[in-house]
Amino acid sequence: RYDVVIVGAGHAGAQAAIALRQAKFAGSIAVIGDEPELPYERPPLSKDYLAGDKPFDRLLIRPPAFWSERDVAMLLGQRVTAVDAAAHTVSVGETAIGYGRLIWAGGGSPRRLSCSGHDYAGVHGVRTRADVDKLMTELATTTRVVVIGGGYIGLEAAAVLTKLGKHVTVLEAQDRVLARVAGAQLSRFYEMEHRAHGVEIRLGVTVDVIEGAADKVTGVRLADREIVPADMVIVGIGIVPEVAALLAAGAEGGNGVAVDRHCRTSLPDIYAIGDCALHANDFADGAPIRLESVQNANDQATCVAKAIAGVSDAPYHAIPWFWSNQYDLKLQTVGLSIGYDQTVLRGDPATRSFSLVYLKAGRVIALDCVNATRDYVQGRALVLAGAAPDPARLADPGQVLKELA
Ligand code: FAD
Repeated sequence: RYDVVIVGAGHAGAQAAIALRQAKFAGSIAVIGDEPELPYERPPLSKDYLAGDKPFDRLLIRPPAFWSERDVAMLLGQRVTAVDAAAHTVSVGETAIGYGRLIWAGGGSPRRLSCSGHDYAGVHGVRTRADVDKLMTELATTTRVVVIGGGYIGLEAAAVLTKLGKHVTVLEAQDRVLARVAGAQLSRFYEMEHRAHGVEIRLGVTVDVIEGAADKVTGVRLADREIVPADMVIVGIGIVPEVAALLAAGAEGGNGVAVDRHCRTSLPDIYAIGDCALHANDFADGAPIRLESVQNANDQATCVAKAIAGVSDAPYHAIPWFWSNQYDLKLQTVGLSIGYDQTVLRGDPATRSFSLVYLKAGRVIALDCVNATRDYVQGRALVLAGAAPDPARLADPGQVLKELA
């Protein structure tokens, strides 16, 4: 039995253990993770790690000795298959492990294609080190890559692979890339950038079947029967939250596990944090959402750790931020653009340094800043203040943003 059991050794799980010890929590802690590695940073998997520019040991969230020095038991390569909320135990194979409090930080698994051929060799998700290592071993014999899904992960992978000399085609079902997360001007900018780098961007196309021979992918057949040849397919169509064991134990939820403002699930002594936590976010007008970001994973983890350690019972209230690297473009996002009714473009995308400001009922709710770190830093104050600046001044790149807060 451990005083705290953390399920999931990813960003949220690691930070929960770190923050518990930072808050001087003296009880026993175990982290159970089904990947074999110590906690590592996931964002580089589609960026510098895939590019071969960063070795795995530089992805570790803490050096290996950290966990034993802090007396955190790392039970790795082990999967929790069931939770007994009444008995306060989790099952790992035949073994029941008792807990005082349980922190569920299971993240998500890549959503799989449902069409035939989805399991051919050469079809990859990008979620874990193992996914990317496997993909990288095939790169030497790969010429043509099809990326299914024009979200951040798909676009980042496309940027890296085209720089590695692969012929890359991105297939997107919507009429623009990043449609789920960004405004049209940002989508158009990234489409142009990718095309300028030689990536083929195909919009409004649906995948019918993955074609293959001898169980190995050879192409992607579209709904109009066109076949896009491929010797590798990368599927970046989102994640399915890893919450089945918790829902089976009776926790409320569906698309994620539902938590209250303190990240508590409907089950006693069980919290959920990170990608899998369906929470009312203050920066989305309290709408229940899951946020897939390092910021959210870390800040929810810290919130729960402080509550368990008894140092703070403040609800989760952290401004969302996110980043994406493609080519030499550094995108930084602050706030959530959900429900925006107006955008203001600040600067000229042709200069490759600009920001897109999102407003809702006149108030700034988010900014996407491309190679524009100053806007990102100062725009944060606008979001936090709920500022309602004159759009004409907002659009003027000569206008210092912080003066509008
Ligand atoms: P995860 O980090 O996924 O960790 C969950 C862990 O739990 C996994 O190891 C999983 O295997 C394990 N697990 C699940 N179920 C069980 C079980 N039953 N028993 C034991 N273990 C279990 N975010 C950003 O902010 N910026 C970025 O640029 C960015 N880029 C990204 C690029 C890629 C390729 C990916 C995949 C993600 C990226 N993200 C980015 C998102 C970010 O990595 C996630 O939001 C973050 O990892 C969420 O942390 P988490 O702990 O909730 O989940």
